[in-house]
Amino acid sequence: MRSYEAYGFVNTKAMYERALAGHYAVPGYNFNTLEQVQAIVQACIDTCSPVLLQYFVLPEEQLHPALVLGLVRGAAEMAAGRIDVAFHLDHGSSFEQCKACIDGGYSSVMIDGSQLPHADNVAMTREVVSYAHDRGVTVEGELGGIAGRETADGPMEEHYTKPDEVEDFVAATGVDSLAVSVGTVHGASKNLAKPGQTPPPLRLDILEEVKRRLPGLPVVLHGASAIPQEHVRAVNAHGGSLTRAVGIPDDQIRAAIAINVCKVNIHSDTQIAMTGAVRTHLVACPGDFDPRTYLDSARKVLVALYSDKNRRVLGSAGKASTVPP
Ligand SMILES: [Zn+2]
Repeated sequence: MRSYEAYGFVNTKAMYERALAGHYAVPGYNFNTLEQVQAIVQACIDTCSPVLLQYFVLPEEQLHPALVLGLVRGAAEMAAGRIDVAFHLDHGSSFEQCKACIDGGYSSVMIDGSQLPHADNVAMTREVVSYAHDRGVTVEGELGGIAGRETADGPMEEHYTKPDEVEDFVAATGVDSLAVSVGTVHGASKNLAKPGQTPPPLRLDILEEVKRRLPGLPVVLHGASAIPQEHVRAVNAHGGSLTRAVGIPDDQIRAAIAINVCKVNIHSDTQIAMTGAVRTHLVACPGDFDPRTYLDSARKVLVALYSDKNRRVLGSAGKASTVPP
């Protein structure tokens, strides 16, 4: 048995095949805390949605890898027989890191060589794919730079994915899915236009061209949070200061999903919602010093947010069949 199967995870192959055929996207929810993990799994069970539990390893690691695995194994146990759960490395930075994660129980890894020269990105991604596929683990690659973390200042056009590179990259590397740059942005401020200017819409034409060239390729959107303003207001009304926090409109995400986007990464929305809930609780109950109560307030807000995403934006609600397509 593959190591991740022993823990109750699945890879993304069948998940994405069903999503492509059904024109919906599987959520890629990043987590950092126990409350987030519990809320993600609860919401996905409630809405009968498959899910990728995603972890991004910071250089200054905060959680011990054994604790991360323990959290996610617990999630898979909660979900057993009800929904499919993949354990996914977000933005893997080297072959060594991906290998350690594959050996440690991840069922899916992203190798992000998008900031390397193209030939180096191809070589590193191919090495990860070879190691991963021998062990039944699926791999997400990236072409183009997603703003907010990966790109220097300058015209965004330079960083968009070039469709004519996609065919060669996929053929040369064997990746199972591909993250593309079409105008989404990592972080809470997704409007890169000057104050007062309207941000440009997502470059759906790039997605159309990728689909035309590779109709069976599952495409992934990063930096796709909507940044709901009620949660921004909850932060700012209770002592916070989030400025220029704007996201990608839901209708644009839905339009992208119709063009072979099979997974949508959501992180900033949940961070802001959690922060807003904790701030609101602590201001309303200044004598409360018990993390169980204020983190429970956050968990309830998160369950509602994840459920809403699955039902209203991603279309993944009701798609958690564990039967092969
Ligand atoms: Zn990302």
